[in-house]
Amino acid sequence: MKRKIAILGATGSVGKSTLDLVERHPERFEVVAVTAGSNASALAENARRTGAKLAVVADRSRLAELEALLAGTSCTAAAGEAALIEAASGEAELVIAAIVGCAGLRPVMAAVDAGKTVALANKEALVTAGELMTRAARESGATLLPIDSEHNAIFQCLAGNRIDDVVRIILTASGGPFRTASAETIAAATPAQACAHPNWSMGAKISVDSATMMNKGLELIEAYYLFGLPSERIDVLVHPQSVVHSLVEFVDGSVLAQLGAPDMRIPIAYALGWPERIETPAQRLDLAAIARLDFEAADLRRFPALRLAREALEAGGAAPIMLNAANEAAVAGFLAGRLRFPQIAQCVEQALSHDDYAAPRSIDDVLEIDRATRSRVEALMTERCA
Ligand code: NDP
Repeated sequence: MKRKIAILGATGSVGKSTLDLVERHPERFEVVAVTAGSNASALAENARRTGAKLAVVADRSRLAELEALLAGTSCTAAAGEAALIEAASGEAELVIAAIVGCAGLRPVMAAVDAGKTVALANKEALVTAGELMTRAARESGATLLPIDSEHNAIFQCLAGNRIDDVVRIILTASGGPFRTASAETIAAATPAQACAHPNWSMGAKISVDSATMMNKGLELIEAYYLFGLPSERIDVLVHPQSVVHSLVEFVDGSVLAQLGAPDMRIPIAYALGWPERIETPAQRLDLAAIARLDFEAADLRRFPALRLAREALEAGGAAPIMLNAANEAAVAGFLAGRLRFPQIAQCVEQALSHDDYAAPRSIDDVLEIDRATRSRVEALMTERCA
């Protein structure tokens, strides 16, 4: 029997890698739904290639275009949030959550509430609603499988082990394009430089997050919710080669690591095949050719975003939501040329100083804090540009 899957964010970097794997294993998977933000033509092409029954574009103004592109096929075109939720909670058994940002939150929660197996790339959804999402998963019986390479590595290292035997987990970080750059060079970074990741090819938002190291900060929070360890037992270690994807230390002093080429198809394949493994075309690891693996501590002075994320994790409540919302808004501002690179972390720090919110009790609360924080950052950016 083929496994029915829905790919949320099918037109993005993770979405494309997922489609590549699915097409290499036609005997295993049937794509029933694909979604995109606004790119109707890429979405229609995905739907035609996979034979999906439902194609959803979030931006309603692109529905007519999507309908025209899918004319003559048996695929239904739909638009808007309710349709995204339908794609996430409908026929699929396995939902690939690869929308970027908090925009993915309601669809991911719909999949969790429906008890699906959710392969999660969309870290912002877990960062902003970790408590609510993990509780909903326990109640519905949903399984969360991490796609983020670090969390996927930890998940692999934990297989066959007890979480009670874990002393700490160590998230590796490439250090991004500015790992060795001076504070002055970092201050003058352009969007093109920030997006030029040395090891991974990814969407623009996560590439900027890697350059600020906010990505590792979001991953700290993601690890906290996925594995239930407190902040002081989640370490970050810079590892420029991106070969060791993360490590787990156990009570007996053993440290397990997962290694592989920096190719997202490896962690995605693990989630697609789980609990089995499926073949990928990823380059095989040649450790003799790599010759050395380096590790160093993260520099919180040049990369303050990592410190801010840890503070938000430890503050709890609304802080991770504010951190994420301010970061999303500031990264968009940086990519649009409205902010300089160091101002991303400054905007986040200012947003975090607003501590009027109670801990969210519903997704509506999360989205309200997200909206209010974005509008504060928008005002800050307008002030700075005035
Ligand atoms: P991309 O920017 O490449 O793709 C994002 C996807 O989300 C696209 O399909 C896009 O559609 C869709 N989308 C954008 N905005 C909306 C919206 N408002 N509503 C619905 N859909 C929307 O991102 P990535 O693939 O790089 O990243 C996706 C997620 O995976 C992120 O959370 C990222 O942090 C995480 N991740 C990514 C990794 C990577 O290697 N890329 C590694 C680990 C985690 P459209 O094409 O129409 O804009």
